[in-house]
Amino acid sequence: MKGLMQDGPLVLTNLFDRAEKLFPEKEIVTATAVGVERETYGQWAERTRRLGGVLDDLGVSADGRVATFAWNTARHLELYFAAPCSGRVLHTLNIRLFPEQITYIVNHAEDEVIFVDKSLLALLWPLVDTFTTVRHIVVMDDGKGELPTDTGGRLLHDYEALLASASPVEWNVTDENQAASMCYTSGTTGNPKGVVYSHRSTWLHTMAGMMADGLGVGERDVILPVVPMFHANAWGLAHIGVASGATLVMPGPDLSPKAIVNLIESERVTVAAGVPTIWMGVLNEIDGRDVSSLRGIPCGGSAVPKHLSEAYREKIGIPILQAWGMTETSPLASVAKVKSTMLSLPEDEQADYRATIGLPTLGVQARIADQETGEVLPWDGETSGELQVAGPWIAKEYYNDSRSPESFTADGWLKTGDVATIDSEGFMRIVDRTKDVVKSGGEWISSVELENEIMAHPSIAEAAVIAVKHPKWSERPLACVVLKPGETLTREDVLAFLDGRVAKWWLPDDVVFIDEVPKTSVGKFSKRDLRDQFAGYVLPTA
Ligand code: ADP
Repeated sequence: MKGLMQDGPLVLTNLFDRAEKLFPEKEIVTATAVGVERETYGQWAERTRRLGGVLDDLGVSADGRVATFAWNTARHLELYFAAPCSGRVLHTLNIRLFPEQITYIVNHAEDEVIFVDKSLLALLWPLVDTFTTVRHIVVMDDGKGELPTDTGGRLLHDYEALLASASPVEWNVTDENQAASMCYTSGTTGNPKGVVYSHRSTWLHTMAGMMADGLGVGERDVILPVVPMFHANAWGLAHIGVASGATLVMPGPDLSPKAIVNLIESERVTVAAGVPTIWMGVLNEIDGRDVSSLRGIPCGGSAVPKHLSEAYREKIGIPILQAWGMTETSPLASVAKVKSTMLSLPEDEQADYRATIGLPTLGVQARIADQETGEVLPWDGETSGELQVAGPWIAKEYYNDSRSPESFTADGWLKTGDVATIDSEGFMRIVDRTKDVVKSGGEWISSVELENEIMAHPSIAEAAVIAVKHPKWSERPLACVVLKPGETLTREDVLAFLDGRVAKWWLPDDVVFIDEVPKTSVGKFSKRDLRDQFAGYVLPTA
């Protein structure tokens, strides 16, 4: 027997229509190099429809790829909807990739047009001759940067001029499985891999983010996505803003702690999301500032140290809300909210749960499996294995990529490359990334856990642990530590601090002090760069 309910495609025009009809007076605020700009959803909707007309005028094909090279701005949000709602596919380019990776992904996705912030043109322009399919470059004047003096005969379009001369279009997308957007992984090994989101997957992911036990964001919120719109869809917050009619505060190019706190204070931001390194910086800025409007700090992308979350709880009364995901998972796949049955636990134990990656969100299934045999492992909180996930907003393959087979199981689950444990309550803990774990004498040492313990030291700003070759144990941990300004510590101080906090055999074999932990294109610790830096390092105990 079939259900007797109406059917309708889950397409992004539904989200657009809501904002246009129900919340035309709500605002999208953008911090630019020349001040704060405000646009209502009503104006945004009108401009976005005209932008659909621009794509027609430029002759972008029916499902052509529309690339963006841009900060988080209202214009970027116009593109976020004009491309998919007119049937095209938005491709957000990560502005921090290496030049050759940008060339690779533009050509691999076959982008037809690139919309670029003027302040970023100097990064993109030197590459234009390497792009094989791009027919148009559209410049969005964000108050900074120069146009090239010699365009080599290429026509650079001006965004506002194109908009002014275009006619608004009606949307007509009926197939929910049509591609809406694509994003490439940041390519820590090999070339980036393309993930293609459908209208349906984005729709469902948006709902998951809005759910109370997801990110729990709604119309009354003022959302500050510090996480870039080119990094895994700004974790869904751009779509959530439009779907719910929440005020969006777009930070533009200045992601300094001071600028972020200024925006929280002046715009009365309620939910602000970014990677841990952002919140490490902001923590030092908030003394004496009014951030009382904040009620949620979603954070993920790499492990959120317990002490960082606790520092926020102690300072402003709200801990960090840890989430886990990947470009391949749209990205939201799990959120660490303490269950009601745990609220009577001592605060410190609750903080331990907040330091996990939490429970899979409704719609996402998770399991751990033995990396060699594929055997599914028990949820006992002890046994660790590769985290695998499945669900309607999880990728089933990469775009035109021969590496797909090795990334998915025979029964279609995504192999995440993360090692995790799952306890009997369903709380998942990331032990490490498979390539970062330190394999010492056949046992595993979690670099993530060691780092978190080291960073709990009040004089330490950042710490990253990498595996270094050892003649007896095969690998041993090396701690690379960045001190806070004006602090001094010795190797022995760090080891003494760790004594008792981690198992004895986990103690790093050496501690080196460095100026900065190298970061990836999305602000995570780049262990690969660090490993290169310390290739051939001989441990004192080796
Ligand atoms: P890339 O894989 O290129 O770094 P992603 O942004 O897709 O790009 O990164 C996904 C990875 O980030 C996950 O596989 C995981 O290793 C890490 N990650 C994300 N959230 C968390 C978290 N809360 N704790 C620990 N690691 C996380």
